[in-house]
Amino acid sequence: MSKPVLIIGGGPAGLSAAHALAAAGRKSILVEKEDRLGGAPILSGYAKLVPSHEWAKDAIGAMVTRVYPNPNVDVRLNTSVQKFDGTPGNFVATLKDGTQIEAETAIMATGFTHFDSINKPEWGFGTYPDVVTTTQVEQMISSGKGVRCPSDGRVPDRVAILLCVGSRDRQIGREWCSKICCTVSANIAMEIREELPNTNVYIYYMDIRTFGLYEGEFYWESQEKYKVKYIKARIAEVTSDGKRLLVKGEDTLIKRPVSIPFDMVVHAVGMDPNVDNMTLSSVFDVKLNRWGYIDRANTYTTLAQTSRPGVYVCGSASGPETIDDSIAQGHAAAMAAMTFQNAKVTEAAE
Ligand SMILES: Cc1cc2nc3c(=O)[nH]c(=O)nc-3n(C[C@H](O)[C@H](O)[C@H](O)COP(=O)(O)OP(=O)(O)OC[C@H]3O[C@@H](n4cnc5c(N)ncnc54)[C@H](O)[C@@H]3O)c2cc1C
Ligand code: SF4
Repeated sequence: MSKPVLIIGGGPAGLSAAHALAAAGRKSILVEKEDRLGGAPILSGYAKLVPSHEWAKDAIGAMVTRVYPNPNVDVRLNTSVQKFDGTPGNFVATLKDGTQIEAETAIMATGFTHFDSINKPEWGFGTYPDVVTTTQVEQMISSGKGVRCPSDGRVPDRVAILLCVGSRDRQIGREWCSKICCTVSANIAMEIREELPNTNVYIYYMDIRTFGLYEGEFYWESQEKYKVKYIKARIAEVTSDGKRLLVKGEDTLIKRPVSIPFDMVVHAVGMDPNVDNMTLSSVFDVKLNRWGYIDRANTYTTLAQTSRPGVYVCGSASGPETIDDSIAQGHAAAMAAMTFQNAKVTEAAE
């Protein structure tokens, strides 16, 4: 009988891989460092997801209950892999408590880390309590408390959402686009307008990347139905006049400096490489790419292959990714892990 597949990370990508393996009758061991499954959408309390408009707790919650409990999936919470030895087909992973696990192959679904806005101090986070992140606004909505200024609990009259915070910013070493934050921000803007129809919402952007089919449903809908206003700008700083926050910069369409008052400023934070990636790279002996995400060995042949044979990667562990693409990659990684022995036989015969 074949050994189980070791999956590290219980977010959308890892849950998808575990479910695909279980549906095919294969055993897996799912190792998650936190005390809950679900990854960022659950751990960070996202509200309604794009593009489905389903609540994260329902949509991702349903993914969790498919694999936990499931007789084919052995879930280990609150732990991580400390050592990973052996060769494909015969790996041995040592967990934090010293437990050793034998595995045929491994799938790294270890995800990303939210950009910490403290690294963009000129945009006011950490200085002014009413400068918050998209994650915090998601939590305000999902908790049912509603969108309020943290400083005094008042309903904001004017909200600014600043895009590309911690993305597309070479000055702080983050040149990648985080793919989903334009669409998430348009969605949040619509949710604020729905909850608070008297609140004006502005989105500051370099350019808008509501890619593919999201353009109509989020970018245009937010303007035409919800009257969200878009300002193409280079932001210099977020300060305060003592009463309100001031977003200062240059309107790059009219090429004039602008300084506009707001009650709340929201940073649309990007997706950094997982802070654990240096450790993961060393434990699993897999290469990272030049941005610090787990490298894929090839783009087309085996979508999920890392630099180490028998070890696969999926989801945002290998770069900024949406939930649906992370789920698709989880399936791809499961398929690669399941067919590993066959692939070896085929390669040997060629
Ligand atoms: C503010 C914000 C809102 C977003 N909203 C949406 C949206 O509406 N729709 C959408 O499609 N996408 C959205 N995204 C993107 C979405 O969060 C990702 O696509 C998704 O979380 C990726 O899933 P994942 O499983 O690859 O990674 P993650 O969700 O990051 O899950 C990784 C899991 O691995 C665990 N882990 C990490 N390191 C280790 C380790 N060393 N050992 C063991 N376990 C480990 C983590 O605890 C976590 O449970 C949003 C992103 C942001 C920043
Ligand atoms: S998706 Fe939009 S907000 Fe996010 S990094 Fe790309 S351009 Fe910026």
